[in-house]
Amino acid sequence: MRARLDEMVNHSLHHGRAVPAFTCYDFTTATALVEAAEEMKHSIALLVAPRTASRPDGLRLISALRGLADEASVPVSIQLDHAKDLQVIHAAVRAGADAVLADGSTLDFETNIALVHAASDLVGPDVVLEAELGGLPGDEDKAFINQASGITDPGQVEEFVRRSGAHLLAVSVGNVHGHYKGRPEIRWDVMGLIAQQSQVPLVLHGASGIPRQDIARASSFNVGKINVNTELRTEILSTIVSSAGDHQMDGENLAGLLTDWSGAAKLFGSRMLAILTSDTDTSRETGGFRQSPVASILPN
Ligand SMILES: [Zn+2]
Repeated sequence: MRARLDEMVNHSLHHGRAVPAFTCYDFTTATALVEAAEEMKHSIALLVAPRTASRPDGLRLISALRGLADEASVPVSIQLDHAKDLQVIHAAVRAGADAVLADGSTLDFETNIALVHAASDLVGPDVVLEAELGGLPGDEDKAFINQASGITDPGQVEEFVRRSGAHLLAVSVGNVHGHYKGRPEIRWDVMGLIAQQSQVPLVLHGASGIPRQDIARASSFNVGKINVNTELRTEILSTIVSSAGDHQMDGENLAGLLTDWSGAAKLFGSRMLAILTSDTDTSRETGGFRQSPVASILPN
């Protein structure tokens, strides 16, 4: 069902959970993830990278995801991820995206705020805007080894959120896109300081490789959305590599290959949802962070 991403996030945080957000390059993966979310009765976000949106079939993929989300039995948001180009943002929202990460993290502070304002003016109040403060190293679509850099300055957070008007804030606290160089060293001390300064929920990108127990407890730092991409791609690609030969021998059985592909994506989505929903208690202390009203129509 259609729901605002910020409301989904606030609702999940109220239950001590974060909403998982998965990058989708194709419809098979997206359908499998929605099936996993429906079985777990949990909301999810489907992310589309700007390079995907800019493909010749990119806007049609977003429109297809829009239909998938609207027909789902749980809230599903379609978010354009890491976008800087206003034309791509406009086209993606017209095609059906209901949320956008207007990513000015590589820009200076004022220009970053200006990008969020420009995106807001373009898409209007019905589209949920995430902003990013502090740059995340690494490529969204190809996983190479990266070292953390560009930690978000907690001292800038209150002013940035207030002046940008963003609904969600992505932060850099030792997280990277792609593979971590050595053990991930997430700066939970900095995350705590940021959480105290931010009037809106936080978003953790680059969750692939972060220990499961850290992902499970992130919501206690007001992290309401967790973006996963690399590990999902790893699961799908290794499944394709290991089963493609058998399906080729089995009469060029493309449908069989897609069934395996879908199964790998669904299993990964289910596992991630299980991590995020484990050990939670609706009455749990949420650390005193401000909670927004919960939309009663939303399941967990
Ligand atoms: Zn990201």
